Amino acid sequence: MIHPIQIFFLFLVLSKSLLSVPKLESELKYLFLFIGDGMGNSQLHLSRFAYPENEIVFLQFPVIAMVSTESTTVITDSAAAATSIATGEKTYNGSICISADKKRKLVPISKILAKKGYRIGIVSSVSLDHATPAVFYANAYSRNQYKQIGEALFSSDFHFFGGGGLKKFGPKEMKKSLLKNNFFVSHDPNEIGSLDLDKKVYLTPREYSSGSSLSSEINRATDQLSLAKVVGAAIDHLSKRESPFFLMAESGKIDWGGHSNDAAMVASEIQAFNHAISEAMDFYNRHPNETLILVTADHATGGLGLGNDRLKKASHYELLKNQKIGEWEFDLKMQIWWKEKRSFTSLLEEIERFFGLSPKASELPLILSEKDLQDLEKAYQESFLSEDGKYKKFLSNKVTELMSEKTGVGWTTTDHTAEPVNLFALGKGSQNFQGFYSSNEIFFKILELIEP
Ligand SMILES: [Zn+2]
Repeated sequence: MIHPIQIFFLFLVLSKSLLSVPKLESELKYLFLFIGDGMGNSQLHLSRFAYPENEIVFLQFPVIAMVSTESTTVITDSAAAATSIATGEKTYNGSICISADKKRKLVPISKILAKKGYRIGIVSSVSLDHATPAVFYANAYSRNQYKQIGEALFSSDFHFFGGGGLKKFGPKEMKKSLLKNNFFVSHDPNEIGSLDLDKKVYLTPREYSSGSSLSSEINRATDQLSLAKVVGAAIDHLSKRESPFFLMAESGKIDWGGHSNDAAMVASEIQAFNHAISEAMDFYNRHPNETLILVTADHATGGLGLGNDRLKKASHYELLKNQKIGEWEFDLKMQIWWKEKRSFTSLLEEIERFFGLSPKASELPLILSEKDLQDLEKAYQESFLSEDGKYKKFLSNKVTELMSEKTGVGWTTTDHTAEPVNLFALGKGSQNFQGFYSSNEIFFKILELIEP
């Protein structure tokens, strides 16, 4: 016969064992996928050398892998590369989530996770219909079907979109379509926190226009929206009431810097990317057992080399910080100066103002030699005094070329390249990502974690 006291003790032992049952290993609840468009290994380390005072946070991640990037061709574009990462399938360049034989619409990881109850956020520093973000919510035979891609965004039930505008929709038209589809359009990351969790959000700078981006980091005013601010707002909104979420955030202008062989732009955009990843790190530190952060690139751009023949073993990467404007933005100014028929001498002042390059520069490597001045004047004549009377882009190109030459950067192309990129992983399931593999494996590795 069992004594009531024994029952009491049995109860105590049972309840204690119940309480001390080791908790099931927590599921992957929070997933970050950061894609640095065009961020090859040299691009990343150029940024590290140019800004030695700032730690690149993801270089400290415990898992660093090597990922080959080819699509159905050896050199990929961003559309096929993002499709590979998001769906596990290699496809043709230009495909937005369409199979290589053009017969199937593919389903990206974002939509698989949404079905499982994750809230989804899509962020990019460039326009949100750009190839990389588009793959995660749209299907299109060509990355240039911007209207169709924009409409897919309007009808999406993802909870957060943040970054630039849309190419085929002016601000008014875009806002109207977003409101009609129950989006809250915001220009202020601080107001996201107080929104109801069911609200769909589109966060974009106040000064947005069709196809606009976030300001390039190199010439961003302190009150302009940064990638880090957008990522911070996305985390605030997606994590409401501890809901599981997936956030894909792209830095799109590392690639643009590569395409225009603009070393300072590449280095500064990677710094902005790094700040955005720091936001995810803050979140990870609060939820280390349920969070996975992946940082990778879709491909490298520009064939950037750390070293050139002009300088041999010398390098002055920190001097890239003397450049205060992106080549692309500088060229917009150049077009205005062309209309104003500015003289070569007056343009030399602008070149000194925005790049620090001058015959009398205080930093020795930035001094313009007689030969440099001749090259610049030749480029000026080709740009400003061409026979057909049309503006040409030689001078702004020449200035960034000199900046690369004088700081020790080399380039092989203005297009994408075939070398593998890195993947950095931290947190829940990060060990899954160790090794050398192709970009489509990223999809299967994520899937293994959510469908064990
Ligand atoms: Zn590109």
